[in-house]
Parts: sequence; C-alpha cells; structure tokens
Amino acid sequence: MVRRVLLKISGEALAPQGGRGIAMDSVVKIAEQVRSALAGGVQLALVLGGGNILRGAQFTSQATHIHEATAHYMGMLATVMNALAMQDALESLGCSTRVMTAIRMDGVAEPYIRRRAQRHLEKGRVIILAAGTGSPFVTTDTAAAQRSLELDADVLLKATRVDGVYSSDPEKDAGALLYNHLTYDEVLSQHLRIMDPGAITKCMEYDLPIRVFNYRVDGNIEKAVAGEDVGTLIANK
Ligand code: UDP
Repeated sequence: MVRRVLLKISGEALAPQGGRGIAMDSVVKIAEQVRSALAGGVQLALVLGGGNILRGAQFTSQATHIHEATAHYMGMLATVMNALAMQDALESLGCSTRVMTAIRMDGVAEPYIRRRAQRHLEKGRVIILAAGTGSPFVTTDTAAAQRSLELDADVLLKATRVDGVYSSDPEKDAGALLYNHLTYDEVLSQHLRIMDPGAITKCMEYDLPIRVFNYRVDGNIEKAVAGEDVGTLIANK
C-alpha cells in the first residue's frame, strides 16, 4: 500500500526571515523539500497554518470591537492565502496540486469534499487543505488531526521551527530536554504545548502517530515523510 501522510506546516515557514507575511523564496524553499519528499511515491496532504499573517487569538484583547469568532475566521482566510502561494510554488516545480477549502470560495479553490480529496491523493496530486476546519476557536493543528483521520493518513507530521518536543520552551530555557518519543498521555499530563489538547486527544483515540520535527533543517521534510526517525514521535507505547 502506498504510504499516505498529512504534513502540517506552520504559516511562519512561509514568512521572510524574522518577519511576517509571505515571502516567495521561503515558500519555494518549503515547496522544494515537498517535491523531494514526493519522489518516494507517497500520497501527500498539506495543511498550512496562517500565523505568519494572523491568528484569531491575537485579537482577544480588543474583544469589545471584534468578536473573537470573527478574528478566527480572518485567521482561516489567512491560511487560504498561504495555500494559494504554496500551490503556485509547487506547480512551478512541476508538482500537480489542488487547493481545497473548508469554507466555500468558488472561483478561488474547490471545496473540501472528503471523497474528492481521496481521489486527488490516489491520482498523485498534492492536496493543500486550507481554511482549517472551517470553524472558529481552534487552530490548524486541529484541522490537521481531523483531516488525517478522515483521509486515513498513516501519520500526522507537524513541521515546526524547533527540533521536536521539549520538556520546556527551548527558545527560553537552555536546559530544555528534547524527547525522542512520547505517549499521548505524557504530552497531555505534562501540558506540553505542541498542539491543541483536543487534537492530541483525537489522535490518541484513533491511535494516529504524530511526528514533530524541524522544517528548517534541510532534508527533514523528506526524512519525516519517508518515515525516518527525525524529531519526536508521539504514539501509544
Ligand atoms: N483557525 C480557526 N479554525 C481552524 C483553523 C484555524 O479559527 O480550524 C484560525 C485561528 O484563529 C488560527 C488561525 O486561523 O490561529 C491561523 O491558524 P494557526 O494559528 O493554526 O496557524 P499556524 O500557527 O500553524 O501558522
């Protein structure tokens, strides 16, 4: 059976170094890694975040002027912009792609329909799943878990800017310990902030392994997609 993976990439991977928004050289850098990863014959679904543009939670302090839900919808729209940029970058490198949105936007991309998504994957197209789950108050990590389960992915790969899951924030604590393997229970009980706890719980319920790794290390996306031991694996014992 052909391996099927879902790769979640934070929006910040598409931003200029240290900045916000979209820098096409950053997008292409990721797209090149994705193209290399495809050479192994894998079926690939991409979920892109939107944090390089906007996260709904950043508006909570101005809640009297904007409902938090509105801000989350804005965040979902940000992921669509990222998806369009990634689509063109991948297509310019010769990859066949489809953008599918959880919120209907005819004229921009096709709607996410599970069976159609499966068909694209079977035909070797990279599907770029945008607009998260289509519902506010969660993040694209929840979308990644949800779509992984719906599409029977073998693994959820979460690409981040650090090497994996640490005992504390490695960007603030020099003594932070990098884990190679964790159970879902350990992640939840130690309050390790990797993804929405709800997303971890869903993966635990259905025994879907999660691998957290650093996209900034050249070749890591390829390795993670191929099932190599990079970063941290979260699974049952
Ligand atoms: N979002 C949402 N529902 C979803 C997915 C995303 O409301 O199903 C909003 C949420 O405000 C989130 C923002 O879109 O903060 C951007 O996504 P995320 O923060 O996951 O991006 P990342 O941090 O991965 O770049």
